[in-house]
Amino acid sequence: MHKPGQIFIVSAASGTGKTTLVSRLVANHSNIRVCVSHTSRAPRGAEQNGVHYHFVSASEFERLIGEGAFLEHANVYGHYYGTSIHSLNELVAQGSNVILEIDTQGAAQVRKSLPNACSIFILPPSFAVLTQRLSGRGTDSGEVIAKRLAKARDEIEQAYLFDYVVINDDLIQAETDLLHIIKAHSLQQSAQQAFIEQILANT
Ligand code: 5GP
Repeated sequence: MHKPGQIFIVSAASGTGKTTLVSRLVANHSNIRVCVSHTSRAPRGAEQNGVHYHFVSASEFERLIGEGAFLEHANVYGHYYGTSIHSLNELVAQGSNVILEIDTQGAAQVRKSLPNACSIFILPPSFAVLTQRLSGRGTDSGEVIAKRLAKARDEIEQAYLFDYVVINDDLIQAETDLLHIIKAHSLQQSAQQAFIEQILANT
């Protein structure tokens, strides 16, 4: 029986290693996909349009907001980021478990509009490690790093609002933890109703 996919919100303070973690998970499990967001920020390093983000201008992003194209959108560090309803629906219809790798503002919006979505917050092992990781990334200016650190504490305070909290100390362990959450959530009674009904219909 075809079962629609489940939706997983994954948030973290910047520099927690969330993107690496989610990329590993998606690469190793074909039934887990990440919903590619739209952003008005410029591509960094080897980022590719349509793979890492759909890169659009600020005015195009505003046009899409006006059209109601986004499930959620937020302004992060002066740039727009948003989840396209169309992209998300396509992945869910395919039966994939879909990860929304979004910030805490977007997570709050999705929790309201999709209460069945499972929310996961990734924590760094310590604030000192987070500071080190942000300084060592080499892709952002000192000003951007300072802004991100200032915001990190506020973001970590939002961890209380999430269903699950995973600590990204050991990457493999954190990936296994995420996988177990995804597996358990997709076996919740609310996700299994179609199977229950099918069995009852055939008794
Ligand atoms: P970055 O520019 O480093 O790729 O992302 C900056 C922040 O924006 C990260 O916290 C990232 O998770 C978040 N982000 C990426 N896509 C979306 C989105 O579609 N919506 C929201 N609300 N945040 C997003």
